[in-house]
Amino acid sequence: MYTNILGYNVYNRSKDEFIDLIKTKEEKVNIISGNPEILYNGLINPMLSKVFKSEDAVIIPDGIGTVIASKIMKNPVKERIAGIEVMKEIIEYCIMNNQKIYLLGATQETIEKCTENLKKQYSNLKIAGFHNGYFDIDNCEEIIKDIIEQNPYAIFIAMGSPRQELFIQKYKEQINSRIFMGVGGSFDIFAG
Ligand code: UDP
Repeated sequence: MYTNILGYNVYNRSKDEFIDLIKTKEEKVNIISGNPEILYNGLINPMLSKVFKSEDAVIIPDGIGTVIASKIMKNPVKERIAGIEVMKEIIEYCIMNNQKIYLLGATQETIEKCTENLKKQYSNLKIAGFHNGYFDIDNCEEIIKDIIEQNPYAIFIAMGSPRQELFIQKYKEQINSRIFMGVGGSFDIFAG
């Protein structure tokens, strides 16, 4: 199910199989969009490397660079799985199953616009809450309290790497969500 890229187990089946896997998984999952920059950061940052190798992390081969790297290392991945596509699939799954999402990251202007556009695009989507990504991650009790109270099924974190991964690592035990996903610059894309 996995292939080795730079010492990491990278998911190596199709996007559809990946979506099925996370829908049926009983435990929490931390989805890592493994683009080359993020994987490289893991090599130079031991804390990040630990996150990537933790049991609940699943790294998906995001970005053509990761696909090319897998070929060079003679462990080619089956197909590229773009993080933003996975995010859209999770959103659709939440709509179908009456579940909520929470959005954390980007500037205040971007997160507001992103939320507005997502509501337009997915009229039945339940957004449990959102917050910009400019706060002290070691001192953010109010935000964590809000997330816990809202109890979203999935939480998307767009604060760039490694900030988003370190936030997830720090708080995933306290937060009861099933899906944690760092989505880099995706809120900027949804904001248009
Ligand atoms: N960002 C944030 N908090 C920070 C730094 C960045 O919320 O302290 C947001 C930024 O506004 C942008 C997103 O993180 O929406 C992605 O930033 P960047 O493009 O630098 O990260 P990358 O996509 O390269 O990982």
